[in-house]
Amino acid sequence: TAPLLEIRDLSVAFAGRHGEALEAVSGVDLTVNAGELHGVVGESGSGKSVTMLAVMGLLSPGARLSGSIRLDGRELVGLSDRQMRRIRGARIGYIFQDPMTALNPLLTVGDQIAEAIRIHKPQVGRTQAREQAVELLRLVAIPIPERRATQYPHEFSGGMRQRAVIAMAMANEPDLLIADEPTTALDVTIQAQIMELLERLRRDKGVGIVLVTHDLGVVAGAARSLSIMYSGRVVERGSVDDVFAAPHHPYTAGLLASLPQAGTRVDRLTAIPGSPPPISARPTGCSFHPRCAHAVEQCRTERPALREVGAVTVACHRAEELVSTALMQLSGAD
Ligand code: SF4
Ligand code: MG
Repeated sequence: TAPLLEIRDLSVAFAGRHGEALEAVSGVDLTVNAGELHGVVGESGSGKSVTMLAVMGLLSPGARLSGSIRLDGRELVGLSDRQMRRIRGARIGYIFQDPMTALNPLLTVGDQIAEAIRIHKPQVGRTQAREQAVELLRLVAIPIPERRATQYPHEFSGGMRQRAVIAMAMANEPDLLIADEPTTALDVTIQAQIMELLERLRRDKGVGIVLVTHDLGVVAGAARSLSIMYSGRVVERGSVDDVFAAPHHPYTAGLLASLPQAGTRVDRLTAIPGSPPPISARPTGCSFHPRCAHAVEQCRTERPALREVGAVTVACHRAEELVSTALMQLSGAD
């Protein structure tokens, strides 16, 4: 059977100020199986959000897209806006960083969840939709959901609001949830609760989840598999266990080195010096080479292809060498 989400060789380009094509995403492959939580990790500008906007058919009209995006085997690239609208919401639920952008301040939380249900299932009556809204609030562990349903978003705390957004995303029992930085705006305790909620929905409802984040730590506890993106490309992917046990890309190793270890504090800025290149000035060869402690001449001229090395898939010319000589443990550590 086909994977739930299968992205093949996806590229997305926007027109720059002088009409030049700026490629935000280049040749991305990504597979998410039903009922799986897949982490997509990258800094801002890595192309992770653009990739997800492409999946949802929400790219700006000027964007040029090539490649394939299949949901349950069905090609989404080339569908009309109307067809995509039907798939969004009915089959794909999405959760953004700031719950306020997803909630209408003028409607009660119950009414807007009920509305989300009725957009895709007009045959559901108002009263029934309201009852389902209360059940959805219960599903996302909002206490006293009957009363909460009658309140407005401003009467909710940040964490409760994000739960309400998740309830809305679940309104039509989607097969795929896309959560783009769902916990970034929340404090650490609430973050953990939201991650627990997503994990429970995955387990109990069998929903596949793509968790987009800049924070490898968030993925560590929640995801089974992950893709690391850098400068518009996937640079490493594999199971969380394999990648954490032996990162094969120096960028992944640097991200791991910047994770705070128990009892220590790591200066994030020293782990990977420099910052990601802007889309308009991506380096030749391996985009990471200006920041890489292991770059050689080949890295400046030749783009490394994604290939299987050991248990992971990685795009680095020196992956075997770096892993076998344990250089990786040294990279970025200090
Ligand atoms: Fe570093 Fe070269 Fe590997 Fe790129 S290809 S990550 S520059 S060693
Ligand atoms: Mg983003």
